[in-house]
Parts: sequence; C-alpha cells; structure tokens
Amino acid sequence: MSESSKTDTGTGWASTTGLERCPSCGNKTGLKYEFSGSCGFVECQGCGTTGPLDDEAADPLCDVGAALAAWNRRKPAEGGCPWCGCTGNLYRQGESGEWTFCGDCDARWPTRTEPVTATPVGGA
Ligand SMILES: [Zn+2]
Ligand SMILES: [Zn+2]
Repeated sequence: MSESSKTDTGTGWASTTGLERCPSCGNKTGLKYEFSGSCGFVECQGCGTTGPLDDEAADPLCDVGAALAAWNRRKPAEGGCPWCGCTGNLYRQGESGEWTFCGDCDARWPTRTEPVTATPVGGA
C-alpha cells in the first residue's frame, strides 16, 4: 500500500562490534543488522536467531542503534526467552516447531530440545 522504501539502511552494514554474543549458538561474529517488514533487528547468521524488535527500530524511526541495543538487552530466565525472560508467551514456529518465538519481545531462536527421536504423536 504505502510505498515507503526508505530502507537505504540496507542490511549488514551496521557495525556489530559491541554486540553481545548470540544467546543461542554463542556466536559473536556473523551477527548482522537486518531490516525486514517494517522493523530492524539483529540476526545471527550462524543459527538464524533474530533479536527482539524494538519500537524505535521500526518504521518510521528505523533507529539502528535501538535494534542493536535491543539485542544486547538481556534478562534471561531459565527455560524462557533469552532476552526478556518471558516464559508464558513463547510459541513454536516451523514445520516441526524448530523455532521458538517470543510473543513479548518478538525474538526468535532455534528451539532447544532434545533431538526428536520418533516421538509418538499424541503419545500416552
Ligand atoms: Zn546464533
Ligand atoms: Zn522475549
């Protein structure tokens, strides 16, 4: 509808020095700034984890610094979102739930589970 293609920010150009390592795979390299949809965020190219979406990193502000800061903002909780610590608002995404999505901060990371070995459907 609105053709606001002011994404001259592109992707990957932002300096990622100073970024915390990926909470999922531990990578500190391969982190890049990405702008997708209407919001900027940090993505880990190692495992595909995407950091939280910050309001200020979204249209129309598109503050890259806010996206980077959001990546570094950590309040992890056991079994919860590595960023905001949310445990009750997590969703599985992907064909076999291989992604976990945090409904609170919109971060996404590979689901951390034991390898799925012939889990009976609807078990019990
Ligand atoms: Zn990673
Ligand atoms: Zn979260």
